[in-house]
Amino acid sequence: MTTSPAFTHTATRRKSPLSGFRAAPVEMPVLCSSCVDKRAVLKRPKTGHSLCKECFFWAFEEEVHQTILAAKLFRHGETVGIAASGGKDSTVLAHVMKLLNERYDYGLKLMLLSVDEGITGYRDDSLETVKRNQQQYELPLKIVSYEELYGWTMDAIVQQVGLKNNCTFCGVFRRQALDRGAIMLKVDKICTGHNADDVAETVLMNVLRGDIARLRRCTAISTASEGDGVVPRCKPLKYAYEKEIVLYAYFKKLDYFSTECIYSPNAYRGHARTFLKDLESVRPSSIMDVIHSGENLSVREGVKMPVQGTCNRCGYISSQALCKSCVLLEGLNRGLPKLGIGKHHRLHDKILSQTPLTEKEERKLRSVDF
Ligand code: SF4
Ligand code: ZN
Repeated sequence: MTTSPAFTHTATRRKSPLSGFRAAPVEMPVLCSSCVDKRAVLKRPKTGHSLCKECFFWAFEEEVHQTILAAKLFRHGETVGIAASGGKDSTVLAHVMKLLNERYDYGLKLMLLSVDEGITGYRDDSLETVKRNQQQYELPLKIVSYEELYGWTMDAIVQQVGLKNNCTFCGVFRRQALDRGAIMLKVDKICTGHNADDVAETVLMNVLRGDIARLRRCTAISTASEGDGVVPRCKPLKYAYEKEIVLYAYFKKLDYFSTECIYSPNAYRGHARTFLKDLESVRPSSIMDVIHSGENLSVREGVKMPVQGTCNRCGYISSQALCKSCVLLEGLNRGLPKLGIGKHHRLHDKILSQTPLTEKEERKLRSVDF
């Protein structure tokens, strides 16, 4: 946020019959449409209502509370790990979860859980923000790192695989890292800072890819435990607009880190994001509309869906003999980075039985230019 969010209606003074020329526009304060007492400082991106700071905070927090209640996200006495990256979403999530836990006596034990991907100049700085948040919110913090879990930092991975598929490695590793951290912390649930824009983008991407299995999962506000080693997750900010999260963080003066990852090429998501922002600018409800469309899609009976099993190597959930994380790691360790990109399922048995790959197979998988 660089511009001042002070909000006014611009009105034009009536043309003076004497002067004969139009006066300059003057700014007239707008009253908050909720309390009709204080001056409005913003127009809610989600509803268009003009609100004062306090009424906006209340509306934002109440909506998250209602989301939590309606979906029965938590049970009294549970330990909940908040996935904290130091960014605006997870910082707002930590702030609001702590506040609502106290205001409505949820009876939750909250903790912060962070993943250190090993990205110099990005994650090391954002983790400093998380450490300050830990002090500010007085919550325990656990940081798990790719280096300790996989023996690879993202810096090293990018050196080997380049900047095209790095987010595939990072995303797969992060998902498992969060689960492993959650198990170390013995939390019952993980909540993540995914907001309405994130969910709508994912719906669009899955529609475009025709990925039915993911499309069905991506709008779910919570996931049950899918097996051993997978901790249930939920998204309390699922219906919160990104723009409102930014406004909330701005007006609450929350301490968050706003720099983008230095390895962020994710072009595909970027296009979905731009498209969604364009839609939002002509019709703000587009974000909710896309989410609701995703929620309402159902899969015809008889459509083949991947069967969820467990990885033969690490035991993590997988629909193949080896989970994605183990395949990616194997590829990195063998210097064959393409192994986990694309479909090479038929090689899984060879990897498991440590049968050497043929010269031709190796050649195809070695190339970095993919
Ligand atoms: Fe990882 Fe890609 Fe996100 Fe950077 S942009 S943190 S590399 S997933
Ligand atoms: Zn595995």
